[in-house]
Amino acid sequence: MLHPLTAFPPTRAAALDRLGRFAPKAGGAYDAGRNTDPGPDQPGAVSKLSPYLRRRLITEAEVTARVLDHHSAQAAEKFLQEVLWRTYWKGWLEMRPGVWNRFLQERAAQRDRWAGSMDMQDAEQGRTGIEGFDDWARELVATGYLHNHARMWFASIWIFTLRLPWVLGADFFLRHLLDADPASNTLSWRWVAGLQTRGKTYLATTENIARYTKGRFAPAGLAPMAEPLMEPPLEAPRPLPDAESRMPDEPTLLLITDEDLYPESMFPARANLSAALIASDPHLHEGALSGAFAGQAAEDTAARVADYFGIEVQRTARLDADSVMRVADAAHVRQIITPYAPVGPVASALSALTAPLAAAGMSLRTHRRSWDAQFWPCADKGFFSFKERIPAGLRTCGLI
Ligand SMILES: Cc1cc2nc3c(=O)[nH]c(=O)nc-3n(C[C@H](O)[C@H](O)[C@H](O)COP(=O)(O)OP(=O)(O)OC[C@H]3O[C@@H](n4cnc5c(N)ncnc54)[C@H](O)[C@@H]3O)c2cc1C
Repeated sequence: MLHPLTAFPPTRAAALDRLGRFAPKAGGAYDAGRNTDPGPDQPGAVSKLSPYLRRRLITEAEVTARVLDHHSAQAAEKFLQEVLWRTYWKGWLEMRPGVWNRFLQERAAQRDRWAGSMDMQDAEQGRTGIEGFDDWARELVATGYLHNHARMWFASIWIFTLRLPWVLGADFFLRHLLDADPASNTLSWRWVAGLQTRGKTYLATTENIARYTKGRFAPAGLAPMAEPLMEPPLEAPRPLPDAESRMPDEPTLLLITDEDLYPESMFPARANLSAALIASDPHLHEGALSGAFAGQAAEDTAARVADYFGIEVQRTARLDADSVMRVADAAHVRQIITPYAPVGPVASALSALTAPLAAAGMSLRTHRRSWDAQFWPCADKGFFSFKERIPAGLRTCGLI
């Protein structure tokens, strides 16, 4: 088995290469084969673009455009909807950041409660004796990737058969997935548990697993029922936080984080940028693998940004006020601009910068991509309502 960073080289060129090979298959072939998990070393119907989309080495808009070069929007409907599930989860959490904070608190409490538990170790190390589940636990740790259906089966067995806390399952995924994402991961686990769509759970069955693993696994003894978990009511959604889409109007430092590693698609080459700082902070990653992926991807971005904007690019492994102020001072700028970071550790680190930067007479502006500005407000209700608004959104983005 290849090392994860060999299987998923952390560069934009590798992402474009993968997209180029996948795009012709994003229509009927994806639709027919996307639910089948043929196993880690077998060719399958899905794109495996998620680590690249997660860090925005490629964007949802360019994936969509490339797919639409090969297929009509109808023929690629299923694939485009999956890409937009990611956008939906992002927008949903952006309006309900309390759900992420609740996850963090609950995870801390459950970590204490389950510290040293053999059941937990058996589940994470693939020693439960449950066919499939044990294989996926090991596959996740070895490869940093699981097929979507395997993620659903795994989460369902974790919660309803093994009766382990969902937050620790979500934590296990965050520590090992290359595409580890606060929104897609937390909300998908909540969805399986019956917390996201109230009362609606996902039950993994032997027949479904046998069918969609082509008979590789047919686990016995799975929970026959999935009673939804309960939680206190959520707070009311907040309006989307402000962000801008103006270009820099004075000499500005471009601050790039692991949340968005393709700034060349946000600002023109002649934008008023004096220097760039790429902050790829390993402390803001739950897992060593996703941290290593982002760190190497940041190196790739540094080279591209220097070339594209013709500016000096510094790198730091700490996203903190001192690092940012040092580079801003050296570049003689008072304004810093950064791609908007959605709810998660990077967003929290960025918001902690605002006060010390203001005290030093500097301002931090956030820049939201037009894709997010278009679609996030549509994530105010369920996915069905969001889905209805996809065609209009794609038209506004000039994609259809
Ligand atoms: C319990 C659970 C946890 C998950 N955790 C994550 C996570 O941490 N990070 C993450 O990126 N995805 C997560 N997903 C969603 C999904 O499993 C992965 O995005 C998908 O498997 C990635 O593989 P792919 O690129 O081959 O997908 P494809 O099928 O080729 O889809 C193309 C793209 O669409 C997006 N996408 C596809 N399916 C989904 C989905 N169900 N939800 C959101 N976006 C989707 C991804 O960006 C993906 O790269 C999770 C799903 C479950 C059930």
